[in-house]
Amino acid sequence: MNNIASLCEFLDNSPVNFFAVDSVRACLEEAGFKPLSMADEWTLKPGDKRYVTKNGSAIFAFIVGNGGPEAGYNIIAAHSDSPGFRIKPSGEIPCEGGAVKLNTEVYGGPILYTWFDRPLSIAGRVALRSDNPLKPRMELMRVERPVMVIPHLAIHFNRQVNDGNKLSRQKDMLPVMALNAKEPGNIIRKLICDTLNVAPEDILDYDLSLYTTEKAVTAGIDNEMILSGRLDDLSMVHAGLTALLEGTDTDSKYTRVLAVFDNEETGSGTKQGAASPILKHVLSRIAICLGGDESSLYRAVENSFMISADNAHGLHPNYVEKFDPTNHPVLGGGPCIKVNANCKYMTDSDGAAVFRELCRMAGVPCQTFVNHSDVAGGSTLGNILTSQLPLRGVDMGAPVWAMHSACETASCADHDYTIRAFAQFMKL
Ligand code: ZN
Repeated sequence: MNNIASLCEFLDNSPVNFFAVDSVRACLEEAGFKPLSMADEWTLKPGDKRYVTKNGSAIFAFIVGNGGPEAGYNIIAAHSDSPGFRIKPSGEIPCEGGAVKLNTEVYGGPILYTWFDRPLSIAGRVALRSDNPLKPRMELMRVERPVMVIPHLAIHFNRQVNDGNKLSRQKDMLPVMALNAKEPGNIIRKLICDTLNVAPEDILDYDLSLYTTEKAVTAGIDNEMILSGRLDDLSMVHAGLTALLEGTDTDSKYTRVLAVFDNEETGSGTKQGAASPILKHVLSRIAICLGGDESSLYRAVENSFMISADNAHGLHPNYVEKFDPTNHPVLGGGPCIKVNANCKYMTDSDGAAVFRELCRMAGVPCQTFVNHSDVAGGSTLGNILTSQLPLRGVDMGAPVWAMHSACETASCADHDYTIRAFAQFMKL
């Protein structure tokens, strides 16, 4: 399968963070990676291919290097989560006329109006009763068919809608899931019972979110674009995963790592997010398994490099004035190094130089993204991670349009380029 077909399949299989991690896990298993648990004792030797998950929504995969505990780590980091809507507890709202709508809470920073009038469904995980009250059974859940829609108000009720329309998250954005429900108040629980084949009394709680059921597609006169929800940041997760799997063909003194964190869109401040010490714990345990001591990790950090991979903004043909006057990264022009004078990105000339060399060696063009000085940009994983581990590295990402839309646009060529640059890194 080519990289774009593989990416489309990956996106379709990954409607929310938990499924993204499960998709990564499935690809790793197929390539011979074996699971580890943070709760178990580890034994590792050079060449071992292992992975560990956290909360079912973050995953860390690695190929143990043959250079000993201080040789260093080559790390690609990305994130599993995307902006959207989470279902609130007791969320069903019966309405006049028999319709039932669903109370939701916004997760991260979606472009709200891109979620109107699309077929939507539900995915996430459900906590079920088990023999141990401290360890509920966690089950992934995905409803495949569309089960709701956020209907927009007709233009006849608001003739000024196209002149700018402020939206309330609590009023305007609630999806409707039934016209005349037989059991209002019990729809979600019944959906869980039917989907997972479980008894209602066993459902203890859930993390369920909305997702758009439209599939990822290619578009453009030459099929040069890819359109999908969640390109940020699942396209970078897919590129990192593909490169790591290509790296299994070669030996390296470096331990090669793919780190996929959750909750980047809300600031990374969870146990499975980049601000937690989870990656540090994983890397430290690898060093100790290789015969190192407590200082080995700190020494290894000096020999390590991290590519923090999160999408960048490509020059938008309708809004050129929003972009920096001299740096115009375009869709199709290759991965972008992200630079910020106030250190919102971890990139410095040292990190950028490394990534430029990787691109040159891979035969891949490389671009630079800098914010227009009057536009506040976003932040990402790199600097949050360096508060735990003082790594050298670069913030980069393939350019996209409409970041945080329910349907973002990227370039197929850039995805190939990014995989080639990452594969070069994973071959060192
Ligand atoms: Zn992102």
